[in-house]
Amino acid sequence: MDLDRWLGEATRAVQEWSAGFGPYQPHAALDVSDETFAPVFAEFTDRLRDNYPFFHPRYAGQMLKPPHPAAVVGYLTAMLINPNNHALDGGPATARMEREAVARLAEMFGFDTHLGHLTTSGTIANLEALFVARESHPGQGVAYSAEAHYTHGRMCGVLDMDGHPVATDDTGRMDLLALEEVLRTGRVGTVVLTTGTTGLGAIDPVHQALPLCRRYGARVHVDAAYGGFFTLLAGADGPEGLAPEPWRAVAECDSVVIDPHKHGLQPYGCGAVLFRDPEVGRFYLHDSPYTYFTSTELHLGEISLECSRAGASAAALWLTFQLLPPTPQGLGRVLAAGRRAALRWSELIDSCDLLTLYQQPELDIVSYFPAVEPATLSAIDHASAGILDDGMTARDPLFLSTLRASADAFARRHPKVDGDADGARVLRSVLMKPESEHHVERVHDTVEALVRHRAGRAGRNRG
Ligand SMILES: *Cc1c(COP(=O)(O)O)cnc(C)c1O
Repeated sequence: MDLDRWLGEATRAVQEWSAGFGPYQPHAALDVSDETFAPVFAEFTDRLRDNYPFFHPRYAGQMLKPPHPAAVVGYLTAMLINPNNHALDGGPATARMEREAVARLAEMFGFDTHLGHLTTSGTIANLEALFVARESHPGQGVAYSAEAHYTHGRMCGVLDMDGHPVATDDTGRMDLLALEEVLRTGRVGTVVLTTGTTGLGAIDPVHQALPLCRRYGARVHVDAAYGGFFTLLAGADGPEGLAPEPWRAVAECDSVVIDPHKHGLQPYGCGAVLFRDPEVGRFYLHDSPYTYFTSTELHLGEISLECSRAGASAAALWLTFQLLPPTPQGLGRVLAAGRRAALRWSELIDSCDLLTLYQQPELDIVSYFPAVEPATLSAIDHASAGILDDGMTARDPLFLSTLRASADAFARRHPKVDGDADGARVLRSVLMKPESEHHVERVHDTVEALVRHRAGRAGRNRG
């Protein structure tokens, strides 16, 4: 896709539509000449240079990458009109696009029925799911794994609900015995399961937790903000295929959150929450004198805690889904490439003496640490942080990220490491760009070189 061409087409299409309403006089108060704009824009673009190259395979750090050009064109075109998806009258076209895009997400998860909408983020989407959880199970708390996103604990505070962190096993998944212990107290009305933790990409065993939760009458919410689109790899042939059971069980859960702005190729400002039972719409009831109705249809503002929302987000997602639908042959190919990259890299790490895998990647997140002598948590922490810094400042830079592992979590994975501190940072690379598949050898070689260089320097300092 030629972005220049389609950005031009975007402005032309909107101008053509605007012209249909007849001429009008733009107000002088808004006048900015090209001559005035030029130097300001130059300063602006110069300031934007202070960024990491999220688009480039040499950026193998956090969950960041630019949106697909189709999403950019979709967003920009709709933004020129600036519909507000709060209400149907705020933008009928993008409200319909939102419904269609959300229906595709529901279909992807196998929901037979659904009520759902886009949100500005996974945080707000999860807040809505917990809000509905509170309304449907008043007076009861929420259980989530100790490795769940921190938003759950925080939002329990916002909603004035008790939060119950549940211990994880030695691969970062919720421990079901620990879950049952919490359920047995009778104080938990809702269990949050995470399919793809933000730190390591661990997948809670939804298929085993769900019947347990049902036995105790608990509601089940799935936080698939990061991992949701990996359901497209469930049971796939090839090395990238994932065990299908947890993903298939999502279809029976009560709600699910997914972030199209993470793995759905969208710009920030695009999360989604879906409820299996459309009846939960009743919890959102409000009576606003400001909103305007020309339709008896339920409008999106009636099933959302947020009011104004960018119609452009829905437009971008809808347009992207026409080209790269949430199917194994569409978006699935993008996720498969990142997953293969993670598997390939973990093999390289496994067969190299300079690095150790922190744990096997379940999705596309690789965690590892430099070999140090003697192997202590404090030395690993120091070396990991050093590699992160060295990588960023190298002549041929490499951008990684770190993850803090507790001493307990570390000991369960690497019992021989001396636990001389309460935890250690390890290196973490989210390989969410499909291009990583073709660059992972180079990335690995660069990390190796950084480790070797550091070890050499340390040796000279000692000598
Ligand atoms: C990213 C993430 C969130 C928070 O979503 P935002 O879009 O960053 O607000 C919640 N849960 C999980 C599992 C995530 O990965």
